[in-house]
Amino acid sequence: MTKIIFLVFAFMSAVYPCLSMSNQQNGRWYSDNQGIMGTNIHTEVWAETEQLGNKAVRIVMDEMERINQLMSPYIDSSELSKINAFAATRPVAVSQELFDLIQMSLSLSEETFGAFDITFASVGYLYEYRNKQKPDEKTIQSLLSAVNYRHVRLDKANLTVFFAHPKVKIDLGGIAKGHAVDNALMLLRNLGITNALVTAGGDTGLLGDRRGRPWMVGVRDPRNRDRQAVVLPLENTAMSTSGDYERYFEEDGKRYHHILSPKSGKSVYEVQSVTIVGPRSTLNDALSTAVFVLGVQQGIDLINRVKGYDALIVDNHRKLHYSNSFQRD
Ligand code: ADP
Ligand code: MG
Repeated sequence: MTKIIFLVFAFMSAVYPCLSMSNQQNGRWYSDNQGIMGTNIHTEVWAETEQLGNKAVRIVMDEMERINQLMSPYIDSSELSKINAFAATRPVAVSQELFDLIQMSLSLSEETFGAFDITFASVGYLYEYRNKQKPDEKTIQSLLSAVNYRHVRLDKANLTVFFAHPKVKIDLGGIAKGHAVDNALMLLRNLGITNALVTAGGDTGLLGDRRGRPWMVGVRDPRNRDRQAVVLPLENTAMSTSGDYERYFEEDGKRYHHILSPKSGKSVYEVQSVTIVGPRSTLNDALSTAVFVLGVQQGIDLINRVKGYDALIVDNHRKLHYSNSFQRD
């Protein structure tokens, strides 16, 4: 008799997970998927009540949309679009949040020997991967002098951005999603959530573990979207991957992809993907782009000097390279 009752209960909890969970005062996973910021946003949140779970998931998506409205180069009313429209003629006042992210981007340019440079967009905006369009050689050469983070002048007292060159444009595509993931995790923490995953394209942030086991976060095979090159068990950290397969087109056997060398204004070809694991998603995002540009040797050397951050690179010959502390684990 006890056995039958147990079986009925097990059946009911499979059919009515919410009902049985709430009876037991237990939680469950809540998840959502949405297309925002030109990419797929995915979140999974553990919550004790349906009200909290739904609220948590909504807060993540709202934060992604808020950052999209603030930083998208495709939305005319975004602060970023206003900077690009006017900062070459006059200082443009921006929010503290955007100011801080631009300031951080400029220091990252210093620290990555110019590999990460948000002014790549001075040339980069002419690539339209969906329409298979790229600037011709002459246009690239004529705009290359505008690609230099030193042209971006910040005024901390007045929170303004000014471009000291007429052709400068900036784009935060290499750091904004990481920032959005960090913000979303902070909002979840403030709600009392202890176990969650937030992914924006190649940028993932994790709160806690998957309740008793680690999160398994995959690095996809750069040449096969259905296969994982590596799966990493992670908890309470973040991971970003930059790959030459995210946005690209092919012409005459050549792949034109979205990670550009600030020196040449063209795609870089030494590696196929770079994964960075470290506590701050904003940094992972920018560093994965920077290491992609720097290549294997210089990239690994850089990450070996950044405490708490690790790199995994898939090079052009599909060979894996790891930073020092990854190798020790
Ligand atoms: P995603 O997650 O979109 O694949 P990545 O972290 O791989 O983003 O960064 C690629 C994006 O970074 C590009 O789409 C572009 O917006 C921007 N980017 C490209 N080259 C550079 C560069 N050298 N420095 C800074 N940002 C860059
Ligand atoms: Mg990046």
